[in-house]
Amino acid sequence: MPRQFFVGGNFKMNPNSVAEKIALTTLLNKAELDDSVVVAPPALYLIPLKEILRKEIQVAAQNCYFKDSGAFTGEISPAQLKDAGIPYVILGHSERRTLFHETSEIVAQKTKAALAGSLSVILCIGETLEQRETDQTAQVCAAQLQAVVDLLSEADWSKIVIAYEPVWAIGTGKVASAAQAQATHADIRAFLGTAVSPAVAQATRIIYGGSVNKGNCKELSTQPDVDGFLVGGASLKPEFVDIINATR
Ligand code: PGA
Repeated sequence: MPRQFFVGGNFKMNPNSVAEKIALTTLLNKAELDDSVVVAPPALYLIPLKEILRKEIQVAAQNCYFKDSGAFTGEISPAQLKDAGIPYVILGHSERRTLFHETSEIVAQKTKAALAGSLSVILCIGETLEQRETDQTAQVCAAQLQAVVDLLSEADWSKIVIAYEPVWAIGTGKVASAAQAQATHADIRAFLGTAVSPAVAQATRIIYGGSVNKGNCKELSTQPDVDGFLVGGASLKPEFVDIINATR
């Protein structure tokens, strides 16, 4: 079965006002959209955004904790997201790994908890510039995924979308070339084939993130192992609609 193209918008800690949020929502509600679309606003805006977005556009949290309740000040649990009707969560984003010191083991625990709470997960992985320059990209991605593989069953993978986001391409304007993205996505798929199963490797969507914009999305989308995008900066602009429709 062909993998359905998937595009996520990671708003990060934006927008800063309700007016901007409504402007974005109106834009998405009016657009003709082809593919699976998920937008991830800051936690505060999850419920209002979900209420005003049309049903085909789903919402995702940008993070969650791995416990269901308790004394964890500042955290949101998978159970709470589920209760609020939020179907997706982004986990393992490089900003969480770097700025908030989340190890691959923590990301794996969060992934397991999110799936146990019936959420779907956009699982982010990717190498730094130094790791790419020293030819460690495939190993780094494999190690980040292995921590998750260790905790999940084969069936769990049906609720995961992998976002390959090279750290050097995030928010920098330096996009991976279509060939670089394709080669790494193929390595990730091969890893899934041996570490989980050939069926999971074939079915799992691997999306690319890192400076995706209107100008580069079409070429990236033609690569056989690029199954969509996770978009940061450009998801806050009208060109997000062009990116969602990259395969047209
Ligand atoms: P960017 O961010 O599109 O602004 O590079 C991507 C991401 O962080 O998911």
